[in-house]
Amino acid sequence: MSKKNIFLILGVVIIACILIIVSQTTLLGKAPNGLVRIYISGQLHSQEELLMERDVAISQPDGKTNILHLMENGFYMKESTCITQQCIQQGQVTVDNYDKRALGTRVICAHNEVQVELVLTDRTPSPDLPDI
Ligand SMILES: [Zn+2]
Repeated sequence: MSKKNIFLILGVVIIACILIIVSQTTLLGKAPNGLVRIYISGQLHSQEELLMERDVAISQPDGKTNILHLMENGFYMKESTCITQQCIQQGQVTVDNYDKRALGTRVICAHNEVQVELVLTDRTPSPDLPDI
């Protein structure tokens, strides 16, 4: 085998490795399960994609704060400065359970006037695929 061929093979292997790493870290080609829309006092405040597991802080000028935890398939209210903490008790909203919840796709924090809504990109259920 000539040196040129070895470099060629090495080059292909390195490119393949880079592509694998890039596709796994940036979730290339993976569509989000949906969006989360955050409303404050009935006004659309922001919109987040359900792609990565993360916390989103919803801060208001008067000090009211809600910490929303986003997952790949839904969300829940993690922390809140409200008195009743009912928004936390409302539990998770996921692509699988929203149709069985009393509040459907929403988590509502009445005291802080924060409403969070799950918006599904594709309402048809996806086929059961094995976890990779
Ligand atoms: Zn609350």
